[in-house]
Amino acid sequence: MFDFLKIGHGRRMRVVCNGNSALREISMPVFEINDEIRQLAERMIVTMKENEIPGVGLAAPQVGVNVRMIVIDTRPQKKEKKKHVELSPGEQLLNPKMPMALINPEILSSSAETETGCEGCLSLPGVEGDVTRPARVLLSAKTIDGEDIVTECGGLLARCLQHEIDHLNGILFFDRLSNEQKAENQEVMLALAEQEKLLAKAEGK
Ligand SMILES: [Zn+2]
Repeated sequence: MFDFLKIGHGRRMRVVCNGNSALREISMPVFEINDEIRQLAERMIVTMKENEIPGVGLAAPQVGVNVRMIVIDTRPQKKEKKKHVELSPGEQLLNPKMPMALINPEILSSSAETETGCEGCLSLPGVEGDVTRPARVLLSAKTIDGEDIVTECGGLLARCLQHEIDHLNGILFFDRLSNEQKAENQEVMLALAEQEKLLAKAEGK
């Protein structure tokens, strides 16, 4: 069904960059959690963690597979742990399971309250900017074990989920930057697209 087995070497997969058509497609739902999906989830987690700058999230289109699955690891870093931040119900539920895959993730509703934060993306190395998003979202998803989850998520988890679910709909965080920040990052975006064209050609696509 997928040609992801051909991508990359070993368990780590190649993260495709700006310019790759997989990043602009609407991804297909996962209909059955089979071995192929489990293997993809495992390899995506390895890819996210072993990237030069480890990511807090990765969506399947970023490894060239257009299915609705994301992997996340938004657990607080050691130094943040000392601060007393109240965790949202979603963070309390999901942090102990991380790194984890979420299948067919969907945002059922979003808070009117927004937060602005700096984002980056493994598919857009060198691009950075501020994105305003709802502060809390109601997430619906399945775990890799087929368990249904509906939970309210805040903090970094809420931001990460929105960023990754955007990927499943062909949207990049760059699209959500102000015109000024878009202009600042335009050169890097074009350079990435050039490089991606060459790589895609080498991979025979
Ligand atoms: Zn991203």
